[in-house]
Amino acid sequence: MANSTSSHCLRARWLFPVDGPPIDDGVITIEAGRIVRLNSGPDASAIDLGNVAIIPGLINTHTHLEFSDLTRPLTPAQPFPEWICSLMRHRQQRSTDRREAIDRGLRECVSSGSTLVGEIATDDTTVERLSPDTPQGFVFRELLGIGDGVCTERLEIARQFLEQESSDADVIRGLSPHAPYSLSEEFFRQLINLAVERESPVAMHLAETHEELELLQQGTGLLAKMLKDFGVWRDRFWMPGGSVGAYLEELSRARQALVVHGNYLTNEEIEFLATQPQMTVVYCPRTHHFFGHRNHPWQRLLERGVNVALGTDSRASNPDLNLWAELRFLTKRHPEVPQSTLLELATVNGARALRVSEETGTLTAGKRADLAVIRLQPPASGRMAEKDSIQLISAENDVIATMRGGRWLHR
Ligand SMILES: [Zn+2]
Repeated sequence: MANSTSSHCLRARWLFPVDGPPIDDGVITIEAGRIVRLNSGPDASAIDLGNVAIIPGLINTHTHLEFSDLTRPLTPAQPFPEWICSLMRHRQQRSTDRREAIDRGLRECVSSGSTLVGEIATDDTTVERLSPDTPQGFVFRELLGIGDGVCTERLEIARQFLEQESSDADVIRGLSPHAPYSLSEEFFRQLINLAVERESPVAMHLAETHEELELLQQGTGLLAKMLKDFGVWRDRFWMPGGSVGAYLEELSRARQALVVHGNYLTNEEIEFLATQPQMTVVYCPRTHHFFGHRNHPWQRLLERGVNVALGTDSRASNPDLNLWAELRFLTKRHPEVPQSTLLELATVNGARALRVSEETGTLTAGKRADLAVIRLQPPASGRMAEKDSIQLISAENDVIATMRGGRWLHR
């Protein structure tokens, strides 16, 4: 439910600024769509939202909204090339209009607290569907191609996409070289050259599966077979080196780079990433779980100082696009990780990944009023109300409202 007012004074049981400790019984003041201040203590002029927590708007750094018409993930999850074939079949056979699917996905993101999405788009439809009533979209135009002629034509598509950049606050543009198994070395380098020239961010699926590693190391395996079946195979089309390291180095030339998944990054590759503050690894927890990958190195990446952000990926590998549900999933499996760390993954780290930290990602005076409201379970009777701490991320607590730039998008 959108409204036009962009000035508010809201009282919540807890405020979680993320760049500072939680504020008990807090008031957030918003004027002209921006955060003016956070206070503790009673304020008679504030609208009391009750037993809720206000957190920064969540940042879902990896989606493919065109698959938001799916009601359950596609199968089989393994082997990966078969899942890709299911995805391609769905794209060809579905009855839902792409626009309708994208709108559905955007609504789902809003209702689960996301105010910014990092979207991989295969055409211009997503850009057209973004508006002040949706999350802001960081749209990466997806490019893939192995044959020479195709690549020249598609490089032009990439160039035109970036040239349409405008002052539109709803859309920021970037490029997504798809993955090592779908790009020739030459085309990949050309796309990075273009991103460097335009100072555009890039996002690439990388170190995602065993099949990808086998292709890079030996030129064999099920992805090689899939490409041969499609009739697009070329000998040694990928980057030399036998690992994802060469891709990381090339990506590091871009102003900002998202390494999507990174499920099988080696220690050496993690050490390289630790020297590249402009690079982020995007971890998609429930999608990772769906595909049955080994433990994700996100904690090791954080230890080494690498920026890690969260994504849902699409409904083709996840039951929904709810980033709050990703946090619940993580807190259940990793109770040893402080919830403040998890909240950072879904907010400020996403902002850093997309280079919008000045604008969003924390509840900080001067930033845009992008926030989510979490309804809290009432404290158990007979127990002292927890004064200094609260279990924010839990199965019982849920997103009930989302605000972007001072406007309620969902309530
Ligand atoms: Zn993806």
